Amino acid sequence: MELPADDLAYLKAGVVLAWLVLFFVWERMSPAAQPPGPLPDEVPGGAHRLLRNAGLWLGNTLLSRFIILPLTFLAASYSLGWRPDEWKGGWFLIVDILILDFMIYWWHRANHEFQPLWRFHQVHHLDRRLDSTSAVRFHFGEVLLSASFRVVVVILLDIPFAAILLHETVVLVAAIFQHSNVRLPKRLERALGWLIITPGIHWIHHHAVRHDTDSNYGTLLSLWDRLFGSMSPTQRRPDMPIGVEYDKDRSLGELLLLPFGPQKQDMSKVENQPARQGSS
Ligand SMILES: [Zn+2]
Repeated sequence: MELPADDLAYLKAGVVLAWLVLFFVWERMSPAAQPPGPLPDEVPGGAHRLLRNAGLWLGNTLLSRFIILPLTFLAASYSLGWRPDEWKGGWFLIVDILILDFMIYWWHRANHEFQPLWRFHQVHHLDRRLDSTSAVRFHFGEVLLSASFRVVVVILLDIPFAAILLHETVVLVAAIFQHSNVRLPKRLERALGWLIITPGIHWIHHHAVRHDTDSNYGTLLSLWDRLFGSMSPTQRRPDMPIGVEYDKDRSLGELLLLPFGPQKQDMSKVENQPARQGSS
């Protein structure tokens, strides 16, 4: 399907690719966290992990271009149409991006709180290292589910297609930044953290301790976590274990099948449950 905004879609892809390459090189020249050595079953340089993340990215890029963007374009074309034209474009682009950021905060939170959504989202969290490539590591099912959620938002809130494309670009640029392992001056990162999600904030979301994994859900603004009480007090440490507590990463094929098979028991949640009374 030829999209009217095809040139914008290609511009988006170019910007994201250049940003990814920049952070991929930068984090290797000046890393914030120095891993203590290879993890168990990790090849030197982590080539398997990089190939796994690249495979998921490639699949999602094709999915986005040929299914998600056309579907979103249709949704924007058949939205409820209640907005006057003066409420589209210009400053309203920024308003739309903030609305979408607010919705994504709750969508991300739902991915952690509802088991059927976590089945897909855990694929992103099972990465045991964090760098710019973690930002594009998502199960195809999660990408489709979140696009479906966005379609509903776009139809109800009458969000123009250009705002969606701009939001997608900003989200990818922000995600690459906050997953990256670049070392930033501490004062700069602290100041940025009052407004946006920085690597120091987002790495806590990938800390392999469940109560930290279930915090810091924001994508662009750090405001939502502060407002809704989900900002973790934990500070990032260079040697902090990354991943999912009580679980391990898998091969690409296993990751793709993971949401559909039996799930590993989440011991942290089991331990937090009150003991059953009077059961026989
Ligand atoms: Zn998450």
